[in-house]
Amino acid sequence: MSNAPVLILLGPPGAGKGTQARMLEEDFGLVQLSTGDMLRAAVAAGTEAGRRAKSVMEAGQLVSDEIVLAILKDRMAQPDMARGIILDGFPRTDGQAAALDALLAANGQKVTAAVSLEVDDEAMVGRVSGRYACGSCGEGYHDQFKQPAHAGTCDKCGGAAFKRRADDNAETVRERLKAYHAQTAPLIAYYEGKGVLARIDAMGPIAEVRQALSSIVGQVAA
Ligand code: ADP
Ligand code: ZN
Repeated sequence: MSNAPVLILLGPPGAGKGTQARMLEEDFGLVQLSTGDMLRAAVAAGTEAGRRAKSVMEAGQLVSDEIVLAILKDRMAQPDMARGIILDGFPRTDGQAAALDALLAANGQKVTAAVSLEVDDEAMVGRVSGRYACGSCGEGYHDQFKQPAHAGTCDKCGGAAFKRRADDNAETVRERLKAYHAQTAPLIAYYEGKGVLARIDAMGPIAEVRQALSSIVGQVAA
């Protein structure tokens, strides 16, 4: 997999990392790796890692590097990684960034590009607090900004069951923003130092952000 692109999306909760990563999957055939989704799956499955992560996630804090890295390494050993990956929500700490570099280096790879989705914190509280998703296909919706065309039915797959994350409430979002600024935002300078950083304005409509991101990704993952 040594020529496969490795893209990182950086940005606070609500910046649109998950939404954009799903679009990049469609547009470029890359595979989205969301450590948040993996951790929620572990919580739902009641694994040992999931049991340890649950209360930390509900408090809006970061799960330990040890747990996150174990889950991510398992996933990265799967054959579909050869298509190239978009990391969404990882790395989130210095230790995770260093571990990722080591993991990639063992394969003759390195980070192709890290894109920082730049937004205003205050707007993130509103974005995150109203969001929910289709229970079948994962399509994202929002109480104010994006309701399904037909109430109660997913636009994308016709599903009728929706889910909300336990941590998507205003109080927990503020904790998650704090964790982001303290532990994750320093990674912007880390990738800038490696010459792989791009910044995009992610306050605009989803389609505009998609376009800005596509033009960056198109240069490295045509
Ligand atoms: P968001 O970016 O909106 O906060 P995520 O789904 O990426 O949503 O993460 C949800 C929660 O899962 C985080 O608040 C944190 O507790 C945990 N988590 C996800 N990814 C990581 C990671 N790489 N390191 C530590 N904790 C993580
Ligand atoms: Zn759906």
